[in-house]
Amino acid sequence: MNFSQTFIPTLREVPGDAVITSHRLMFRAGMIRKLSNGLFTYLPLGLRCFRKVENIIREEMNAAGSLEIKPTVVVPGELWKESGRWDSMGDALLRVKNRLGADFVVSPTAEEVFTSLVRDELSSYRQLPLSLYQINTKYRDEIRPRYGLMRGREFVMKDAYSFHTNEESLDEHYQVQGQAYRRIFKRCGLTVIPVRADSGAMGGSGSEEFMVESEIGDNTLLLCKSCDYAANVEKAECKLDYSPRFSLELAKGAAANTPAIEKIDTPEVKTIDELCVFLKTSANSFIKTLIYKAVNVELDLSAAPGGNNLEKRRASTASGTGTSPAYPEAFFAVAIRGDLDVNEVKLASLLKAAEVSLAADTDVIRITGAPVGFAGPVGLTTVPVIIDQTVTGMNDAVTGALEKDKHYLHAAYGRDFEAWLTADLRTVKAGDRCPACGGELYEKKGNELGHIFKLGRKYTQSMGVSYLDENGKNHIPLMGCYGIGLDRTLASIIEEHHDEAGIVWPMTAAPYHVIIVPIKYQGPVQEASDKLAAELEKLGIEVLLDDRDERAGVKFNDADLLGIPWRIVVGDKNLAGEKPMVELKRRGQTDTKLTPLNETAAEIAESVKKELAELNG
Ligand code: ATP
Ligand code: MG
Repeated sequence: MNFSQTFIPTLREVPGDAVITSHRLMFRAGMIRKLSNGLFTYLPLGLRCFRKVENIIREEMNAAGSLEIKPTVVVPGELWKESGRWDSMGDALLRVKNRLGADFVVSPTAEEVFTSLVRDELSSYRQLPLSLYQINTKYRDEIRPRYGLMRGREFVMKDAYSFHTNEESLDEHYQVQGQAYRRIFKRCGLTVIPVRADSGAMGGSGSEEFMVESEIGDNTLLLCKSCDYAANVEKAECKLDYSPRFSLELAKGAAANTPAIEKIDTPEVKTIDELCVFLKTSANSFIKTLIYKAVNVELDLSAAPGGNNLEKRRASTASGTGTSPAYPEAFFAVAIRGDLDVNEVKLASLLKAAEVSLAADTDVIRITGAPVGFAGPVGLTTVPVIIDQTVTGMNDAVTGALEKDKHYLHAAYGRDFEAWLTADLRTVKAGDRCPACGGELYEKKGNELGHIFKLGRKYTQSMGVSYLDENGKNHIPLMGCYGIGLDRTLASIIEEHHDEAGIVWPMTAAPYHVIIVPIKYQGPVQEASDKLAAELEKLGIEVLLDDRDERAGVKFNDADLLGIPWRIVVGDKNLAGEKPMVELKRRGQTDTKLTPLNETAAEIAESVKKELAELNG
């Protein structure tokens, strides 16, 4: 391809909102242009790279035994009402009406579409397992699209969905997908960190995210210095630094020598820090109690304090076959050791809630009978009390007394209060101990490129999918889902492979393998350049020939910016000798090398193919 025949509008300047490298370089290299906030147009060069990533993903999905289909992007709102996500998805879901006033959704993900397809087609166990995927446009009305392609509103996702008769089969395909993901990212030249992830309200039995380390990453990862434990903070656990006492008897026993609980005046002392100063002690001897509001709670609360008074209803659906009944709104007290923080993702997951957030001050006052700052588990009966496991190990603690300016001393779990539920709710931090080996955990920021997830029967049940087993008995299949963002993957390749001058593509994702730069595109130089390009193309190598009437310096700068792996400079001087020569330079390296013109095509082709084979191998 000749440069003058394509459309690669390179730039020196970047727009002010391009704050990360990949965004800046893709813009400057003429790969993308912004149409509107979170909406980007791929120009020819960008699209070539995008297709490379797409093909790698497609090859690996096909090899994993998943079958490609192409559903529409605009789907009936009805399906989303059936799954319950019409209500729970919130404002990220772009809803549109057609001319008849019927609701439609612009797909942000496609569990509903694939589940409904399988529901219509599935009858017998013989059809399972079945794994289907698409590589298709998604739209999410992100509040704050940013970082270019990293978080757009419209983007492309590969999403696969699999259906199974049993756990082993689901697990097997989940592993196969995980292996495919590892290969995909390796082929793209990406260093990914697979981490354990939250399975959320879906209650699935497993979930793994594929992260790239990134300063702008919005995920916190906890990694072990001594073993390969890696988890998203949402899911991270740690080795206990206290003795839990899960049985009440044990807890009561531990409190045998604790002085009787005592209410004390703590005037104007509200925060844990203030209390530490006031009582001359440290945060880990406090029980911090927070009041949470949870939305769409699917956990059964009928036996919980106040649970019977809660309204319970099915998520509103058009067909009336919604998800399992949920409490639209419920409040909880969560108690945790004073030096720790509650992990809201763990809490939401425990409650099977769509969302949890700290209760408003007015709710805190109503529930605890005291202003904010004096909540505590002792005597709290208005809402279910959930304690983090750390609290079970506390037999002499300070805690709020449900009265303004009062706290308790010597509060002991099992003796002075009990809990409705005990769970691991702490936010694990750097310095905590690895749950696998006891080593020290450290933190990294990460960006999620892909996610694999065992969904269980979440959608197949709510959307009424079933099949008959060999005895003619009805069953609901298990499901898994597996997503990768293509745009984000492409941007991440640039984040990992660049220098001050521009992009340094891995061969597998490069828009072209070779750029030929004639010093001046005329006479024998033109002739030699054209011939070389033709030879290379004949050998299956993708070539960009910079035939523009620009100064050599401009062309060199653009070649660096575009990041094409091999640069071949063709100039009068090197051609003129007895043996015509050209100059080779590998992007990312500083040295250049002269090679005979007539050997260059074969040499480069061999090297490109070898490198492709290595990355793809
Ligand atoms: P995030 O936490 O970053 O919003 P997510 O957990 O919502 O992502 P999934 O629903 O798991 O994402 O989607 C699968 C993949 O789609 C993600 O791993 C990511 O690569 C990609 N993706 C999600 N949202 C966006 C977006 N706004 N722009 C570009 N890619 C995205
Ligand atoms: Mg995710």
